Amino acid sequence: MSSGTQIVRLTGAALDALQEGVVLSDPQGTVVDVNAAASRILGLPREDLLGRPVAVVGGDPVDVSGSPLPERDHPAHRAARTGRTSAAVLGLRRTAGRQVWLHVSASPFAPEVPAPRGTPKPVLTTFVDITAQMLQRQALQSSEDQFRRTFQDAPIGMSITGLDGRFHQVNTALTTILGRTEDELLATTTAALVLPEDRDADAEQRRALDAGEIDSYQVQARFLRGTGEPVWTRLTVSLVRGRDGVPLHYVGQMEDVSEVRRAHDLLERRALYDHLTGLANRSLLLDRLTHALGVAARTDKLVAVVFMDLDHFKRINDSLGHDAGDRLLQEVAARMQSSVRPSDTVARLGGDEFVLVMEGVGSVDDAGQALQRVLDTVQQPVTIGDHEVVPGVSAGLTVSDGARTADQVLGDADTALYVAKDRGRSRWEVYDEAYRTQALHRLQVEQDLRASIARGELELHYQPIVDLRSGRVVALESLVRWRHPRRGLLLPEEFIDVCEQSHLMPSLGAWVLQEACGFLARHPDLEGQVFVNVSPRQIGRADLSRVVRDALTAHHVEPHRLGLEITESGVLQAAGSARLDLERLASMGVTLVLDDFGTGYSALSSVLSAPVDGLKLDRSFTARLGDGGAADRISAAIAALAESLRRYGVVEGVETTQQRELALAHGWTHGQGWLFGHPVPEAELGRMLASAAGGSPAR
Ligand code: C2E
Ligand code: MG
Ligand code: MG
Repeated sequence: MSSGTQIVRLTGAALDALQEGVVLSDPQGTVVDVNAAASRILGLPREDLLGRPVAVVGGDPVDVSGSPLPERDHPAHRAARTGRTSAAVLGLRRTAGRQVWLHVSASPFAPEVPAPRGTPKPVLTTFVDITAQMLQRQALQSSEDQFRRTFQDAPIGMSITGLDGRFHQVNTALTTILGRTEDELLATTTAALVLPEDRDADAEQRRALDAGEIDSYQVQARFLRGTGEPVWTRLTVSLVRGRDGVPLHYVGQMEDVSEVRRAHDLLERRALYDHLTGLANRSLLLDRLTHALGVAARTDKLVAVVFMDLDHFKRINDSLGHDAGDRLLQEVAARMQSSVRPSDTVARLGGDEFVLVMEGVGSVDDAGQALQRVLDTVQQPVTIGDHEVVPGVSAGLTVSDGARTADQVLGDADTALYVAKDRGRSRWEVYDEAYRTQALHRLQVEQDLRASIARGELELHYQPIVDLRSGRVVALESLVRWRHPRRGLLLPEEFIDVCEQSHLMPSLGAWVLQEACGFLARHPDLEGQVFVNVSPRQIGRADLSRVVRDALTAHHVEPHRLGLEITESGVLQAAGSARLDLERLASMGVTLVLDDFGTGYSALSSVLSAPVDGLKLDRSFTARLGDGGAADRISAAIAALAESLRRYGVVEGVETTQQRELALAHGWTHGQGWLFGHPVPEAELGRMLASAAGGSPAR
């Protein structure tokens, strides 16, 4: 080394005792001296280090990111250039292959030696081996990287949130589930996104987690997506604590469980709601009612319960079809629901039975007013297909202060409903203690009626059906009477309903058929037919054709002598077995006629396809004949229809000669009514029988 610069040597026991490596380089960056530690750390003998450029002494340097370190960025060069201490962590791949990490610090040496500014100085570079620490850090780094990667790519939503609920970190899946960007999420809190109803769903568990009683918990909650739609999620929350146990942050894992919830909700709906109308079903109703009664018992408010029933629903169902019936039920349900308060419960118990529970009611009058509003809404015309139907509703109302059970209250409302129906339908009645007695009375009638057949209290009366022009009796209609031991002679209106509802109809019907066939057998010369009324309940499952055949056989009567009167709805029942039953009867040769025609909603096509031979105009039209309005038009139209279908027609309930003339003018061929004869017992038929030889209208 010449150039006049003073070069200091680093030899000496003191330097060699140092743990730090020490390298001295001249202003040109050439290593001029090293200590023992330097030679040990760099893994090369002293001689191999001397004279080499300081920037590459011991190997080619890289920075912490692993990129080659340019010579000018080496601390020794920086220090030489700037005249100031420079430090860096750098890696050296040693000749032996092992990579070492060094913390290098370089300072201008002998700075007290004056030199012109910018003149490079000798540099003293010291370094320590930090390989062990660096490897540890790298290991940590890679596990952090791994965590970050796992976090980012996890198929379930993940978040790290601060103790204040702010999102600190969210992954891609979470942004997808919540339908919000990462930035949107990082600007808000979990609480802000949970639906208010679900906000406290995890309050208790959160407390236990914070208190260290549990490590994590799961909760199902709805979050608001960016679109405003709620999404059902299952959230697993755990709390991460520092070494000292101080809570640091929450880690959340979120799954979208909307599908599962939908399935769950569907099952719940099936279990608690009526599938046709979406109203509460019986079990939900009982639940709500029991709860409401409990509340009423503790307060001074009442619970009102209304039992409702659609008038003549069966008729609509039978004549317009089940789809139409379903549509009507749905419409009625929707109207009921829309005309009550959200806190009230509307339930469908099946068929056309509905129950309304109103809570927090002040008095019976209040409940009545509310009910009237519901009925006004429901009883507006509904258009179903080509038909306009006005749903009539009968209702029974009762109120309770909570002293009666749900079953009792429902029973009371049902009793009141029965009274409403009995008093003419399309009305409502309030439950009265006295009704219970009436219900008992009904039960009594049913029991009496059961025994009446065996006791021989039933009898048939016969009313003539005549040729309108000649007045000749062409047939007889049998009408059942009940000679009650205490109440005297009862007309069908007093007991037929009870009979239908208590399923006594098939046995009463069988008795009537036996009796009518017995009558025919006793009068072999009677040319006209005897018509027997049959109820829809006797058709189909009750096997009317078999019952008729048995009666005919028992009395040796030919089938063509018997006619059956079936109401419009009875004939038009869509059910297969009923249809088959009627066809069997027709093919046996028994005459079938539609009774009370015009009161149902039958479509013309169903009349055409029904196996009937004739129809009887309901007497409500006859009573209005001559009004120059609807009754006249309907009468004329039905008479024309009967004729064009080659079915014979009978006008019922003819009481005056004027009605007879009008019926004739409209085209009716046959009639029945007090003008021609009242229903009378067999014994009083006498003269009428003699004249009833004029051929059946059916032939
Ligand atoms: P329906 O088959 O329409 O019978 C005609 C009803 O009109 C009879 O009433 C008859 O007495 C009444 N009637 C006849 N002519 C006149 C009249 O000029 N003016 C008025 N205002 N009424 C007249 P009834 O006997 O009380 O029978 C009522 C209903 O009971 C019958 O109506 C029928 O549907 C049913 N019924 C009667 N007997 C039986 C039966 O054996 N089985 C079944 N299932 N139902 C029956
Ligand atoms: Mg009849
Ligand atoms: Mg009739």
